[in-house]
Amino acid sequence: MKKITFIGTGYVGLVSGTGISDFGHKVICADISKEKIQLLKNGHIPIYEPGLIELIKRNVDAGRLSFTSNVQKAIEQSDIIFIAVGTPQREDGAADISAIESVAENIGKNLNKYKVICTKSTVPVGTGALVKNIINKHNHKNISFDYVSNPEFLREGSAIKDFLWPDRIVIGSDNKRSSDIMKEVYDPLYINDKPILNTSIITAEMIKYAANAFLALKISYINEVANLCEVLGANVQDVSKAMGQDGRISPKFLHPGPGYGGSCFPKDTRAFATLSRENGQKMQTIEAAIKANQYQKIRMVKKLKNLTGGDFSQKTISILGLSFKPNTDDIRDSASIDMISAINDDGGFVRAYDPIANKSMKGIFEHIKYFESWEEACKDADAVAIMTEWNEFRSMSIKKLKLLMNKPVLLDTRNIINVKKLKENDFNYDNVGRGDNDDN
Ligand code: NAD
Repeated sequence: MKKITFIGTGYVGLVSGTGISDFGHKVICADISKEKIQLLKNGHIPIYEPGLIELIKRNVDAGRLSFTSNVQKAIEQSDIIFIAVGTPQREDGAADISAIESVAENIGKNLNKYKVICTKSTVPVGTGALVKNIINKHNHKNISFDYVSNPEFLREGSAIKDFLWPDRIVIGSDNKRSSDIMKEVYDPLYINDKPILNTSIITAEMIKYAANAFLALKISYINEVANLCEVLGANVQDVSKAMGQDGRISPKFLHPGPGYGGSCFPKDTRAFATLSRENGQKMQTIEAAIKANQYQKIRMVKKLKNLTGGDFSQKTISILGLSFKPNTDDIRDSASIDMISAINDDGGFVRAYDPIANKSMKGIFEHIKYFESWEEACKDADAVAIMTEWNEFRSMSIKKLKLLMNKPVLLDTRNIINVKKLKENDFNYDNVGRGDNDDN
């Protein structure tokens, strides 16, 4: 059993800290947000993630998991420190690692015995060396430590499954002592024959960016294929299905949509592109994927405008789905933000509904109307735009929807609504690369 502290108790720190406590280790989740920590101490969670509250409760009850805003004490009490703070995007596109630097300083000042310091946050390639330098600068007692990079690949919405049953665990280290300690942390998974990949620190950092940027690239690619399908009259769903059956391609991340969002792909692709430019190795594929994604979001606005007669002025538009994907309350860089902004700017009225993310979106758009069901949100609407593929929208009655609306107009940016039903109910509709094809 290891004594472990997670610094940063957000989507990644909370899920992975809880997951590691479930392996039998003693974990402290620390955060500078007193509000977040108080919520957790009171048995609530600050985010929406299926299955997380039950897992937290089980481990808190077993005495393996606790929460604190006293980061300094948590550092002193542990043998392994995971850094899981945010690395948002800076104005110039690079990653803002100021929280990482501040944590490194805090660790350096409070080293009281040998520890392994492990970065789980997504950080620019080369950050490991910087973190080590900062710790050393403040480590006046010269206490020994090792630095490890252990990037995280979990996805919000299926984070528990991704963490407890990962495809791989990457451990970047520069000595056997620290990689052996990290192996012990992940021992329960190792027993289940999960591949642990040992690399250098810099390679581990590179793996995370290369993987995320590739997935973003795949999404932008299928979005562009969908756009061409629209012009040529092909059905992108059949195209992506057939592509995915090719073992060299795989069916995942081949669903066309309104452009990727979330807390990772937009910022990680930009950070990767900036890093490559700064190092004289411009990654043209990634630059293109970023541009294609921006264009895709604009394209969705244009599609909706086309459906509503050219503008949104004085029109009532229902937005169904606000989170960047289903099963999360995370709205960071969600395509719905671009859509709502465009409607607002054009003098339209937004009626929004998301099963979980209304509250998060209120932080950005305070003055649009929020509702507690899709039925209420669609009342008297001149058009509906489905922005997130929540299950409850898949099973929506199109007949009922038509009765609620002022005009039967629908933009399905996730291709989840049966086109046949839309036709039967005389909807004026559009989707992404599927056209009039009557499938599913
Ligand atoms: P988040 O914003 O949800 O959480 C970050 C937390 O760090 C916040 O609670 C904040 O209060 C805390 N924090 C900031 N500065 C601190 C400090 N100095 N000391 C202590 N706590 C501090 O972020 P997240 O989504 O969990 O992402 C964390 C990192 O993991 C990022 O680098 C992200 O790119 C990466 N990542 C995220 C995901 C994901 O799906 N969210 C997946 C893989 C990797």
